[in-house]
Amino acid sequence: MFMKFGTKVIHAGIEPDPSTGAIMTPIYQTSTYVQKSPGDHKGYEYSRTHNPTRTALQDNLAALENGKHGICFSSGLGAIDAVVKMFKPGDEIISTSDLYGGTYRLFTKIFGQYGIKFHFVPMDDPKLVEEKINQNTKLIWVETPTNPMMNIIDLRKMSEVAKKAGVLLAADNTFASPYLQNPLDLGADIVMHSVTKYLGGHSDVVMGALIVNDDELAEKLVFIQNASGATPGPQDCFLVLRGIKTLHLRMERHSQNGKTIAAYLKNHPKVDKVYWPGFEDHPNHAIAKKQMRDFGGMISFTLHGNRLEDAKKVMENFKLFSLAESLGGVESLCGHPASMTHASIPREEREKVGLVDSLIRLSVGVEDAEDLKNDLAQAMSFI
Ligand SMILES: *Cc1c(COP(=O)(O)O)cnc(C)c1O
Repeated sequence: MFMKFGTKVIHAGIEPDPSTGAIMTPIYQTSTYVQKSPGDHKGYEYSRTHNPTRTALQDNLAALENGKHGICFSSGLGAIDAVVKMFKPGDEIISTSDLYGGTYRLFTKIFGQYGIKFHFVPMDDPKLVEEKINQNTKLIWVETPTNPMMNIIDLRKMSEVAKKAGVLLAADNTFASPYLQNPLDLGADIVMHSVTKYLGGHSDVVMGALIVNDDELAEKLVFIQNASGATPGPQDCFLVLRGIKTLHLRMERHSQNGKTIAAYLKNHPKVDKVYWPGFEDHPNHAIAKKQMRDFGGMISFTLHGNRLEDAKKVMENFKLFSLAESLGGVESLCGHPASMTHASIPREEREKVGLVDSLIRLSVGVEDAEDLKNDLAQAMSFI
């Protein structure tokens, strides 16, 4: 049956439990399943391979991304790890330069050791990507919007580059969530999510997922999921299924609040720059408008004078925005990329892309926007 997004989050892949009629998918807290005779079972043998709570979540996630196969992992990095394990020494991957730090670390520090070669390229110009393609290139890895500078990469254009070269395109869709953006529809082969963020939505689970259409690709990734074993437990799958039921409502409010807070910051006398793709003068606004349903609640901003002490003072004095890693939960968070998520990148490199000492990143939650504005006003009065 055809379902629109707000119906899919609640119903796709989810059937009342066949043994009791329970409306909510039960937490199948079991590691194994009885067999009548060797090999004679009901499709479930061992929970690393299959678990009914996980199956419901995987089917639901596939539907949200307009894909055929959902494959869950015990973290977002576990999901990315599985993608790279499809390749072998000598293979090359071209990745967005403005990349989640953990992904950069996994690529360079783990897979670099095994002879996989990575190129990090700013992707606003597809020609820069084309220049790096050779017969060893196997994958283009795109993250959009990027963290924390909120650049937008044209997924349709990247998929044309990938198709022409005969390589795969993967998109880290964590910042957008499936509500705001569906990369498979734009030509990507693999969508990756840190489910920890908007999909879970309540800052209580760490999980990752891959969604694909192609059966052969799915088979390879499911093989790695089981063979490498980074699978999530049923309790976490239940929490995410529950979180997803309100994804559309939360994302609408995140986007509305994002718009309000971005506009407030833009008019604040102590604020220098505000990075949010919803602004008409954002350099990639036209692409954002084309490929995203709305602009979300992730915002970065800098302070006049660019003093680290000022940024610290603001973050120490917030009453509602909690200073913490992560994003995408119902509660508002703030972070300081220069000293937290991006501390491992040398200052010169950081500053080239605008990631300066006074840059503060906000994950705007779903609270009342008026209260969030008041919190910003009072925290900013300390500088
Ligand atoms: C958090 C995050 C990841 C890693 O996911 P984990 O669930 O923390 O392993 C990957 N990409 C992006 C964009 C993220 O924000």
